[in-house]
Amino acid sequence: MKYQQLAEFYNEASSTTKRLEKTAILAKFLKNLDEKDRDVLYLLLGDIYPEYDERKIGISNQLAIKAISKAIGVDEKTVVHEWKEIGDLGKVAEKLTAKKKQATLHRHVLTTEKVLENLRKLPELEGKGTVGKKLALITELLTSAPPLEALYLVRTIIGDLRIGLKESTIRDAMAVAFFSDPEKENLKKIQDAIDKSNDLAAVFDIVRDGKISELEKIHLQVGKPVKVMLAQKAENIHEAFETVGKPCAIEYKYDGFRLVIHKKGNQITLFTRRLENVTKQFPEVIDYTKKYVKGDSFILDSEAVGFDRKTKEYRPFQEISQRIRRKYDIEKLQEELPVEINVFDILYYEGKSLLNEPFEKRTALIKNVISGHPYKIIHAKQIITSDEKKAGEFYKKALRDRQEGVMFKNLKKEYQPGSRVGHMLKVKPETRDLDLVITGAEYGTGKRHGWLSSFILSCKDEKTGKFLEIGKMGTGIKEKSTEESKIGISFKELTEKLKPYIIEEKGKSVKIKPKIVISVNYQEIQHSPNYNSGFALRFPRFTALRPDKSPSDASTLEDVKKDFKSQKRSWRYG
Ligand code: AMP
Repeated sequence: MKYQQLAEFYNEASSTTKRLEKTAILAKFLKNLDEKDRDVLYLLLGDIYPEYDERKIGISNQLAIKAISKAIGVDEKTVVHEWKEIGDLGKVAEKLTAKKKQATLHRHVLTTEKVLENLRKLPELEGKGTVGKKLALITELLTSAPPLEALYLVRTIIGDLRIGLKESTIRDAMAVAFFSDPEKENLKKIQDAIDKSNDLAAVFDIVRDGKISELEKIHLQVGKPVKVMLAQKAENIHEAFETVGKPCAIEYKYDGFRLVIHKKGNQITLFTRRLENVTKQFPEVIDYTKKYVKGDSFILDSEAVGFDRKTKEYRPFQEISQRIRRKYDIEKLQEELPVEINVFDILYYEGKSLLNEPFEKRTALIKNVISGHPYKIIHAKQIITSDEKKAGEFYKKALRDRQEGVMFKNLKKEYQPGSRVGHMLKVKPETRDLDLVITGAEYGTGKRHGWLSSFILSCKDEKTGKFLEIGKMGTGIKEKSTEESKIGISFKELTEKLKPYIIEEKGKSVKIKPKIVISVNYQEIQHSPNYNSGFALRFPRFTALRPDKSPSDASTLEDVKKDFKSQKRSWRYG
């Protein structure tokens, strides 16, 4: 397919902010999309492979600037100057391409196949000369691109498409394009297939034939990550019982990070909740899984939690978070920051998906297949009860054990990948913390010169998927590198993490693509006209990086409103 057609579609889609209109435009596009162009589905969200695939484009603004300059034949300074003016590298490429006087006689017609071919070579490049090769691949595309195509090519390359398409828009458009009724049921089936496969093109292959029932053929595959099921919040034990029903299972809510363990024969793969493969980082977990879990093939859902080897006390998440990312010194880290695996669900066992089995069956199976070894791998601490008093005691015990609280689970319900369900509820004390996304920052002065030192925090508007500002934070971050202390982050380290995602610079202020999630503690939430969420945090303080969470996992505006209300009810400080 001509890339021009895709660029025109992007353009049309960004001409409206109304969800229904966007869906209709996309539905028309999908209807006309040929079978062989299925991989265009990835490009719609700015990707080159399915979501579960870890190969991403990964090009910095700096390299994109070089490519624009080379392809168009202007110097880099001009590109940077225009970028500062316009604030969008894609628009810069569009403008400069339009101005270009050179003859365009040798221009090839760009196809989506060619774009994918070149972009897919980028993550494969390693070692010496990589930068030059990457530059050549991008420049080749840009040289052939007329202005509109240059705009979207550059935005795709730097990972900032700005057309407001989300996975849910694609789901809705598939339903509109290929099915008439009953719509809601179809939407759920399409969403389920997306959540199980994390592959939009695979789902498109089936729906384009109009055979919705065929979607059931999309199964879990061991070794391919699945989106995990997420919990809603209950204010207290009484409310939790009312929602999930009696009796129910109550488990420790461990203060660690989600780890999904896949095993197929001798092959064990570990994924985070954002579908990242972290197998290499946790050799001991592979060992425990091999030794202490019966079965040839399975998928386990668990929480990895850190503990102190000497005192055997559990440690808070921020002390072990670095194990998720660090790719070197693994053995040393494993020794210093050991984790215990608490298995709380099983999705697949010996060739069979268990997603539609009731929780009571799944949890019984866990007991059967795991021989519990504390401080290695165990079945998450659990009671099954209808008694509020017993539940209260268990909750207190979880807090004494330094865990976050408890989870209430309906015994009869299925496992719904990717959904925040009402049959799994978390109950935890009011902690005044949120997981927020950094969407902007300011460069510091004096000893913090050259580093970002004040950070704009945003929560997620669950209705639109947009990020809404809720405050500025500069506390909790260290002046010096944290290599030694291993806990926390310094201004320099955080600046380095954020730099690749800067999308606009004006004076000292920068806008940052929502990528980095952090846990933040605060003293109070207030109404505020200064931020577009309508709320402001008082005294927000950094507590931890959340490499295991993606921006879509950030706290929502709804969470903020709930916390705002509950702080009024239980006014404690002052
Ligand atoms: P939150 O991140 O506050 O939405 O809480 C949900 C998270 O709690 C899940 O994504 C898990 O990582 C974690 N968790 C800890 N213990 C459990 C458990 N027993 N069952 C389910 N999730 C748990």
